[in-house]
This record gives sequence, structure tokens and C-alpha cells, in this order.
Amino acid sequence: MKTSIATVSISGGFAEKLTAIAGAGFDGIEIFEQDFIASDFTPAEVGAMVRDAGLTITLFQPFRDFEGLPEPLRSRAFARAARKFDLMNQLGTDLVLVCSSVHPAAMGGIDRMAQDFHDLGDLAARHGVRVGFEALAWGRHVNDHRDAWEVVRRADHAQVGVILDSFHTLGRKIDPDTIRRIPGDKIFFVQLADAPAIEMDLLYRSRHFRNMPGEGDLDVTGFMRAVTATGYAGPISLEIFNDQFRAGLPRLVATDGHRSLISLMDSVRRTEPTLAVDLPTFPAPAPVQRIEFLEFATSATDAPALESLLSATGFAQTGTHVSRPVKLWRQGEINILVNTDGEGFSRTSYVAHGTTVSEVALLVPDARAAHTRALALLAQDHDQPVRAGELDIPAIRGVGGSMIRLLDPRSDLARIWDVDFRTQAAGPGAGLTGIDHLGQTMAYDEMLSWALYYTSIFGATKAPMVDVADPDGLVRSQAVQSGGLRVTLNGAEARRTLAGRFVEETFGASVQHIAFGTADIFATAAELASRDFPVLEIGANYYDDVEARFGLDPALVARMKAANVLYDEDAGGQFFQLYSASRPDGLFFEIVQRQGNYLGYGAPNAPFRIAAQKRSTRPSGMPRT
Ligand code: MG
Ligand code: MG
Repeated sequence: MKTSIATVSISGGFAEKLTAIAGAGFDGIEIFEQDFIASDFTPAEVGAMVRDAGLTITLFQPFRDFEGLPEPLRSRAFARAARKFDLMNQLGTDLVLVCSSVHPAAMGGIDRMAQDFHDLGDLAARHGVRVGFEALAWGRHVNDHRDAWEVVRRADHAQVGVILDSFHTLGRKIDPDTIRRIPGDKIFFVQLADAPAIEMDLLYRSRHFRNMPGEGDLDVTGFMRAVTATGYAGPISLEIFNDQFRAGLPRLVATDGHRSLISLMDSVRRTEPTLAVDLPTFPAPAPVQRIEFLEFATSATDAPALESLLSATGFAQTGTHVSRPVKLWRQGEINILVNTDGEGFSRTSYVAHGTTVSEVALLVPDARAAHTRALALLAQDHDQPVRAGELDIPAIRGVGGSMIRLLDPRSDLARIWDVDFRTQAAGPGAGLTGIDHLGQTMAYDEMLSWALYYTSIFGATKAPMVDVADPDGLVRSQAVQSGGLRVTLNGAEARRTLAGRFVEETFGASVQHIAFGTADIFATAAELASRDFPVLEIGANYYDDVEARFGLDPALVARMKAANVLYDEDAGGQFFQLYSASRPDGLFFEIVQRQGNYLGYGAPNAPFRIAAQKRSTRPSGMPRT
């Protein structure tokens, strides 16, 4: 599999882009003419820089408004093409993208356009280059790959082929299976982009909202299955116009891009096994069974505050690590480790972020297989020295510099509680049974990146993105789920939002809240009250509204109000939730009860929760309001 990315997809100067692209493992780049013009290098220098970075120039683009022009515009278009072909010779690339014309003078007629391309093929042959014709979704006469292919077919020239772009095909809802009728050797190049399912002008959506395959809602897998079925063996290339990526870190965006292509071709071969996909084999994604434990990195000084919150939430300390200063707090199936180690990864995490969730341990069907898959998808391995008598548990880097450990029930990895810990039985606690979900907070720029991390590595599915109104700005929220692992990703745009402040004050820590499940939220609330749980108080107005909104029984609403319980429902069932007040660093706990098949996370309640949290905590340097 040859991979490529358009220089326009990522930020930075030209040299910086090349370093990031080569570092992420791509084979080549599409050079955008604008990018080249903006650089201070000669074409020969650019060509040498690309080759020195170990890359090839897979495509030069775009050449616009070529076909269907009347004279003298037609002759001028050919003169322009000759100059671009010279430039391509100097750059050292042999393929140019001609996108379908939007010129007001362009005339229709398949045969007229085919003749233009035939003549352009002759010119290209004299320069030793090839021409690919791409149907722009908003092209004047050609806006469908089927028409572009018909033009190319009739042009009947060895130097002329078609270029396919998933955005233009899928954005116009054209059936990608029509691609299967094109001979693979007449497809000269394939560009890939995804996009969110939002209704807006196609051109605007294309220029600003394209994203990596898997990050949006288009069926890019179906598109690539059709392309692969033709026998096409050329590069697959990312052509992403996205304002976030252009402002993002080049290395992060490039790595995500390469990850998205590996993940895409992996899903192509898994959904259509008869296709020949040129990609090393690695294990399939498997649903996560549950979060086996969470580990907090903290210090001897800061641990007591965390432990008193755990105790107030119904946890009991039931074990200690055999060799490290790590305590096990347990309730139901929930295991929380409190690590005050003065060295190692935990210490580094604590120094960087303060008290923070530094490790998330996932129980998966096969830990080694999950680890192998993660590394194949460019996850960073986390290799930590193992002390004598301890288990060696595979791990990868997770969101915000945290670590994800992979445990499974088949190997001895599940024996962690017997080998690494001395434990005793826990009491009944407050009835919390398991971890319902984690809320991870990040800068908005990184949201797509972390969603892709979970969808590609763990086969997680995405819920639609929702906007959450914080009194001081907008927070975007996207839930991902792989089996028993549910994560809400919250992207903070504004610093003054609660989420934004959390990112800032913890220097990029990620788990901002942990939601525990209970089978009876009112019984849990009563037990928590007896333990001085710092419940987040919800105002009376909320209960008036929720009673009216859902037509709830007033007696139920009275119980909810007395216990500060919030409510939501969907077609599948009901949802009850209550929160702790936030700690000074922004971390908080949530307790939820799902009834029936409720699939959400109480997003409609988030604005009220945030407002209540802002009332109850005084952010540093700001007066209480
Ligand atoms: Mg394109
Ligand atoms: Mg939540």
C-alpha cells in the first residue's frame, strides 16, 4: 500500500511539513501549487527536498478550468498546461490533476471535452507526464466521476486517466459501487477525505470541513472497497481541507492521517475479504469488556483528599501493592488504584498534571492481540521496567499522555489482583457496580484525533457530536463506545469554559470525570449522604422544568430534588444521574442509573451541571459569582 498526503492538509512551512509527513510513514506527497508558490525554493530544490526526505511527489495539483473552452481561451489553456508540465519536469513528478472546469465560458459536450483531453494527452506525452481528470462535485458540466470516466474513455489516450476523490463522490451521494466499472489501470490516482454529516454548501463543506477517513460520516470504506475491486494499485492519498488541521500540530495531523489510511484499508479487507489489500496482517478490533481499573497518580501530600472523596463515594481500601506505594480502593467491580510512588510513570504524570488518572486498564478478549493491533495503528508503545515478581502487562499511550494497559481473562494477566496485590474483601459500599463511562477533556483541536484513536484501535463506534453550552463558551462532546468502554470526549474551545480551565490548570490531563453505575440511584444517594459525599446541588428551577418537560410524576421529581438527581430519557429508556462537586483541579465523579436501553449520557443536563459546578467552585483568581 502506497500512501500519500496533500501538502495542503497540514500546517507549517514546507520543510516542516515534509519532516512531519516522512516521520509519520507516508511514501509521498501531493504538491499543491499554492504551497509551492508560497515557498522560497526553486522547483528543482523542492524536488530534491522531497527526495531527501525519502518521499516522492505523487501528484501536482490543481490545474483548473481546462476542458470545453472556446478559442482563444482553449489555446491559452494549452499554453498554460505546457508551462505546468515544464514545472512538473523540474519538480520530478509525472502526474497532474485536472479538475473539472467551473469556467463560465466552458461548454458542455462529452466529445468536445474528450477531444480536449486527447490533445492534452499528446502534449503530456511530449513532456513525459500523465494527466488525471477529477470531477469536482461543483464542476460546471462534469460533477460526477461517471462523467469524468466517460470523457477519459472517449479521449482514449494512454497518458490520460481518471482521478477519484471520495469527497466528490460521497458528498454528492453517488453510489461508490459505480466505480467498479472503471478499469483499474485507467484510475491514475485516488484521493481520500471524509466529512461530517452536516447539511451545508458542498464547496464550503469541502474547503473547511473535510477530515480523515473515519473521522467523519461518509462511507469511505465502501468507496475504497469499490476502488480496490478495480485492481487499482496506485497511491491512496489524503486531500484534507480542514481549518483545525491547518492550525494543528503537523506531526499529530500527519500521524492521524497515516493511522486513518491503515485503519481504512484494514476495514476494507475485513468487510470484503475477497479483495486483495496490500497491507500487513494484524488482529481485528475486539470490543473492550470493561475498565478493569483506573490508576490515579498523586503524592503522599495530595492522596488524603482523593482518598476521602473515594471513601465518601462508598469505596473501601481493600489492598496494597506488594512492592510499590499503591493502594487498591474497591467497590462492586470497580478497582481504583492510588499511586504515590516517588518514581516511574506515575510520578512523571503527577509532576506534569497534579493528581490525575494516569492509567486506564482495559479488559479485552486478547491483550497481546489488542496490543499488536494498536502498534500496527501507530499507537505509541509504553514500555515500563517490570520489577521482580510483577506481571508484564502490555500498554500503550492514551489520551493526554495517560497510559492504557491491556489485560485479558485468558492469560495470567487477569491474576494481577492475586500476584501484584495483597487484598481483602470489600464491604457493600454505596451500591456502585461498575464504571459506566469516562469523561475525557481535551483541547477542541485534539478531539478528532482522539476519536480516531478509539475508533481505529478499539473498533469503537461514535455517537453524533453534541454542543454543550457552558456559560462561558461552547464545549463539543462526542461519545465513543467499544463494548464496555464508554468515553465522552469533550473538546474545549474557550479557556473560560469549565472544560477549558481543566485543560489549562492540569496542563492537558484527560480524565475529568468518572461515572459509576448503580442499580438504585436513590439508595446510593442515601448512603452517600451518610458518608458526607460532596453532592453537587441542583437548583429548584431545574426540577420545575424537568417535571414539565417529561411529564414526570411529582412524587418522583420530589425525590430527585431531595437527592440532587438529574433526569433524561430517550426512545430506549430512562437515565438518572447525580454529581459530586468538582475538586479544585476540576475532577469530579458522576453516578448514573440506566433503565431500559438508554444510550446517551445526559447531555441535555450538562449546561445545568456546569452552571451548578461553577456556582459551587471558585476558580483560581476569580471571585465567586
Ligand atoms: Mg480532490
Ligand atoms: Mg458523564
